[in-house]
Amino acid sequence: MRIVDSHCHLEEAVFADDLPGLVERMRAARVAGVVSVGVSPDRWPQQVSVAGQVRQLGMPVGLAFGIHPWWADRVDGEAGLQALDRWLDIHRADRVAIGEIGLDCAAGMPVFQRQRDLFHGQLDRALHWDLPVILHERKSADLLLKAIRLRPGLRGAAHGFAGSAQQAAQFVAQGFYLGVGGAITHPRATRLRQVVAGLPLTSLLLETDAPNQLGHAHLGERNEPAFIREPLAVLAELFRQEEAAVAEQLYANTVALLGERWLVTS
Ligand SMILES: [Zn+2]
Repeated sequence: MRIVDSHCHLEEAVFADDLPGLVERMRAARVAGVVSVGVSPDRWPQQVSVAGQVRQLGMPVGLAFGIHPWWADRVDGEAGLQALDRWLDIHRADRVAIGEIGLDCAAGMPVFQRQRDLFHGQLDRALHWDLPVILHERKSADLLLKAIRLRPGLRGAAHGFAGSAQQAAQFVAQGFYLGVGGAITHPRATRLRQVVAGLPLTSLLLETDAPNQLGHAHLGERNEPAFIREPLAVLAELFRQEEAAVAEQLYANTVALLGERWLVTS
């Protein structure tokens, strides 16, 4: 069985003292690789450094660089996009996507116009570099879909998807994948389970978003990539298939979106 955690924040300080343990538990959980997703230019260097350490421990890491909407009022838009171009150029060998980017329309978030300019600028960079995007969605699925439709040929995934069945179907119709993680493991997540069960398995990815988005079995703990087995178990139940078969399909989906080269340990 091969499992990929398609979305996690490995460079977070909470993991710094525990990388060997983290990798050991990933291996025990049959995790074959992890995607480290970016949030802001000042954290990209730490992301690269931690990815190097984790690879040294024998675990493949794919790198996505991007500016998260939560950072939209802390990063100068033009300078941020230029930094992204430079960074993607330098890291041609191990970049797999642009992310985490998107729109967050919950209360208290950065000014919408700043989020939007940064998001649209990064979508255009994705087309320029022919890279997939990893999207942050919160109360923003329709706006994300509109931006995607304006850019034929754009590829990507909506991470931590929590929208409606109609919105999910529209992402799938645009060729996008939907990331499934800890949220689906909560017994009360009946609506999300229904939405996901109605989608083709060929459109799903597994993710933890660690250290965020704890699953039900670990409430009160710190989330980590090894906990990916729990959303996998729920998917196996929903689709009435063996975990290994589901994992293999989702592994293939990840490779279709992000390529295979980063998963090969040298
Ligand atoms: Zn994230």
